[in-house]
Amino acid sequence: MFKRWLKLQDRCPNCGLDYNFAAPDDGPAFFSLCIVAFPLSFFVVWLQVAFDPPYWVHLVTSLPLMMLGCILPLPYIKGWLVASAYVNHAQEAGTERLWAELHARAEDKAD
Ligand SMILES: [Zn+2]
Repeated sequence: MFKRWLKLQDRCPNCGLDYNFAAPDDGPAFFSLCIVAFPLSFFVVWLQVAFDPPYWVHLVTSLPLMMLGCILPLPYIKGWLVASAYVNHAQEAGTERLWAELHARAEDKAD
């Protein structure tokens, strides 16, 4: 589904699905931070408090772990977000179609 690192193809190579709807924006970075960086920062603090190591220990453990842990899962998270947007028919809030649907529902309730 990717033509380059994190760059989506125009269409699905298997079924031809148009990926125009897919705009996860900074969602992958957000989830990467929440899932990886936040828990990992506890490890870094624990490492510092428990062993009080010299700074180079963080350079060879914490820094690579944090960078790889945040960057490597990005394509998987983006794929998950695109699939989730497709399955749930996600639309950007404020689109005309959404407004039309909401007003139609409001009128139905008023009748
Ligand atoms: Zn497909």
